[in-house]
Order: sequence, then structure tokens, then C-alpha cells
Amino acid sequence: MSKAYSRDYWENVLSALTLEGRHFVDGKHRASISGETFTRARPMDGREGPTIARGGAADIDAAVRSGRAAFESGVWRRQDPLEKKRIMLKWADLIRAHGEELAMLETLDVGKPIMASLNVDVRLCADGIQFYGEMIDKLYDEIAPTGPNARALVRKVPLGVIGVITPWNYPMIIDAWKLGPAIAAGNSVVLKPAEQSSLTAIRLASLAVEAGLPEGVFNVVTGYGEETGKPLALHMDVDMIAFTGSTEVGKLIMGYAAQSNVKRVALELGGKSPLVVFEDADLDAAASAVAWGCFYNSGETCHASTRLIVQRSVQDALVRKIEAVTKSDIALRHPLDPAAQIGALIEEAHLEKVLSLIASGEKEGARRAFGAERVMAESGGYYVSPGVFVDMTNDMRLARQEIFGPVLAAIAFDTEEEALAIANDTIYGLAGAVFTRDMDRAHRFSEAIHAGTVWINTYDMSNFATPFGGFKQSGFGRDRSVHAIDKYCDYKTIWQQFG
Ligand code: NAP
Repeated sequence: MSKAYSRDYWENVLSALTLEGRHFVDGKHRASISGETFTRARPMDGREGPTIARGGAADIDAAVRSGRAAFESGVWRRQDPLEKKRIMLKWADLIRAHGEELAMLETLDVGKPIMASLNVDVRLCADGIQFYGEMIDKLYDEIAPTGPNARALVRKVPLGVIGVITPWNYPMIIDAWKLGPAIAAGNSVVLKPAEQSSLTAIRLASLAVEAGLPEGVFNVVTGYGEETGKPLALHMDVDMIAFTGSTEVGKLIMGYAAQSNVKRVALELGGKSPLVVFEDADLDAAASAVAWGCFYNSGETCHASTRLIVQRSVQDALVRKIEAVTKSDIALRHPLDPAAQIGALIEEAHLEKVLSLIASGEKEGARRAFGAERVMAESGGYYVSPGVFVDMTNDMRLARQEIFGPVLAAIAFDTEEEALAIANDTIYGLAGAVFTRDMDRAHRFSEAIHAGTVWINTYDMSNFATPFGGFKQSGFGRDRSVHAIDKYCDYKTIWQQFG
């Protein structure tokens, strides 16, 4: 029987929690070498959050040295594959066993609904670690075709020390997308989580060691981007940076790699994804997909369907349906209320950014159909109601700039050519969708939308078997799927001559 959760239940979980905010280096929690810490306001109510270690270059250096020592010793990469797999599967099990605790840490940090943290974020994090754990004893090397007097082994070898820098919107899930393949491939990792979402990263690391991952293979250094992320990306002994975050910071990461040791980079960046609805589409299905695609996680989703490109003849009917679905299904509540479907935005500065983009839309002539207003201000938290703007054109700021809030820009079109031109008129290429009953058109469109993932008559379906990532300024390299492991390895050829 499934457990009956209540607000009181979760309040009790919260008050019983011990919050650990120190780095995790070489298998141990450590304060910053400088002794510095920071706190921030909790998104759910604006109260002061836990104390977190404020890392700097010296902490990064210690973590990289620990990762390098573990790598060179071979304690992990040369371990029996079956044993490595067993450890990663145990790690996944421990994540599930500590699901309520991890969910609470995530909700405390980022303000997402507790039941989403538990049923989506914790679950997908554990599934991600398990997926790559299960690959460990199924990775084969190659023997190249050569003449009879020689043999050439083509080995796939880990790179060394991987710096992982992640954002705050799906911290545990994105951590798993990178930790899973990087560690399964035999690398060591130094993770710098977003300063807003340190708690789950620290706990994932201590659970990994509890599962048997050797000390030093997975280190976490918390802190600010400039002070902690930058020295990691500039470090001369880091072999690769796997980054998820904004396009702006992604460009800096490429620069740091070039300025230091030509380390590799993989970048999962921003989006402004188009969802195109033709007049022959199932409008009820489209309305539900649009609402959940744009408003889930309060719109703090890289592939949120923030641009609705809709055939003019059905625009009004579709927007009315989106409003109905939003009001009946997508409850905005306090994040510890088990009925909450969406919760708070990450912080006050981000709230201000979302409100200023909304104001820019109004100034540029867009019309608010519903929502998109600050609500629940009396809670002290940062809440914006999901909403839609119509009468938009694709050159308005609200249509071009990533908002990372629950706000949809609806742009009308008349012809298929026009719809495609608007869909592709963006610097991003992360995701897109088309809704139509005409399957020829659906396939024509899905080929023509320049994005890493395109959905037909649905939005946001995904699993670990499918690669995820972008084209254009949404970055390069792919997370998820068996292919994700490739970027954490490279080929090494070993020749042997006979006779
Ligand atoms: P962000 O500001 O780019 O930060 C991402 C990470 O980079 C954080 O850990 C941040 O640390 C760090 N950072 C900031 N400045 C840095 C610097 N100079 N050097 C090294 N590291 C630095 O992004 P965010 O606001 O956390 O997340 C939202 C963005 O992530 C959106 O653009 C979203 O589209 C993107 N995203 C993309 C995907 C995808 O798969 N494509 C998935 C999720 C999110 P601090 O937090 O301390 O600044």
C-alpha cells in the first residue's frame, strides 16, 4: 500500500534532518581551507537556509589531487567490472533507500514540490546510476583488422579526472546523467554543484562511499561559480569539464579550457523550445502537453516549451484549453504540500528577472491571456503563477530570451513555411514538438526543426535509452543513453608485432 503523505509528515522529516553543508573530498566531509561559508534564503519561504562551505581554488586543488591519486592508483578503473557494477547498483539502491531524505534536501534547496522531488528527481537519479552501473560489464574493446604478423588492440580508456559543473533546476537528475557514465567509465570526478543546490550533491557523494566507491573517486566542492567553478575549469590537471548551465557560462567554460590545458568540454546549455500546433491537431492533447511542457518545475526546465507556435484559426480555442488544464491540474502550492504540482522559483533575483521579462512582454505589446503574476508573496517565498501571453511576435524579448519561469509566449502563424521559420528562428536547438494529425507533415517537420529532440503529438517523453542535448547554442555532447559514456573515454591503440 502506498504511504499517505501529508504536510505535517514532511515538516517532521525536515525538522529531524541533519544538514551537512561541507565539501566531500577524499571520502570525508571537510570545511573550506579558508574556513568560509555562505547561506542563502530558502525558496519556499525566504527564511535563512543551511550553512554551506564556500570553496575556493585551494579546495578545488585538494579535490583534484584526491581524484588524480585515486585514478593513478587504479583502485577503481582497474577494479573487476563485476565488482564495480555491484558497487554502482548498491549506490543506486542507497539513493532509493534514502529517497525521502534526498527529496527533502532537494526541495529545501530549490523549492520544487516534495512529491516531485521524491517521485521524479530521486527516482531518475537512482535509475541513472543504475543504468550506467549495468553497462560496466558489457563494454568491449576491439581488435583492429591487421596482417597476420601483428595485432592491434583498440582500447577504450577513461580520461582521468572529470570536472562536473551542474545547475540548480534538476540537480540530482543532472548529476546522475554525468556521474553515472563518467564513473562507470573508470574516471574520477570533482563535482561543483550550483551554489543554490549543494545539499543533494554532498549526500550523493557520502552514499557513494557507503556503497563501496573508493575514496577520492567522487569529490564534491561547493561554492560560487566564479570562486569554485572557474578554478575547476581552469585547472591544469583536469582532463574534461562536463557542464550543464546557461549558454553564457558555457562560453566561459570553453574559454577556460582553451586558456588552460585544452581540456575537453561537453556543454548542455539553454533553450527556447518551439511547440508547433496545426489546426488539425487534437487540441485537448496539445493543451495538456503545452501546459505541462512549459509549466512543470515552474518553467525552470532547459527544454521547457516556452514558445507556442499556433495556427491562427485555433489560437483562441487552444489558449482557453491551456488555461483550463493549468487551473484544474497544475496546482501551485507550498512545496511541502503533497498536493503541490509546482512550487517556488529558485531565488529572489530570479523572481525579479522573470517579472521583468513579463513586464517587457507587456511593454512590447503582448497581451496577457491569464496568470504570469507574483503570488503567495505573504509566504516569504518566490512564486509566480503559470501564465500565457498572446499577440506575440518572435522578435519580442519574451519570445527570444530564456525565461526559466512558468510563462508561455504564444505566436500565431498562417502557413507551414511560416511556422517552421519561426520555430527555427532562435539561437537555441535543444528541443521542439509538432502537433498535427497529418503524419507526412509531422515527419517533415520533425526532420526540419533543428533540435536535439523533437516530439510528435506529445512533449517531454524521455528515458535513459535516448540521448539528450542540443544543437546550435544549446551546446554539444549528449547526456543519457549508452552513447553518453563515449565522451568520458578515448581510444588507445596498442600494436604488437609477432615473429
Ligand atoms: P548557470 O548560471 O550557467 O550556472 C551553471 C553552473 O555553472 C553553476 O554551478 C554555476 O555556479 C556555475 N558557474 C557560474 N559561473 C561560472 C564560472 N565563471 N565558471 C565556472 N562555473 C560557473 O546556470 P543556472 O542558472 O544554474 O541553470 C540554468 C541554466 O541551465 C539555463 O540556461 C538552463 O537552460 C540550463 N540547463 C540546461 C540543461 C540541458 O540539459 N541542456 C539542463 C538544465 C539546465 P553558481 O551557481 O555558483 O553560479
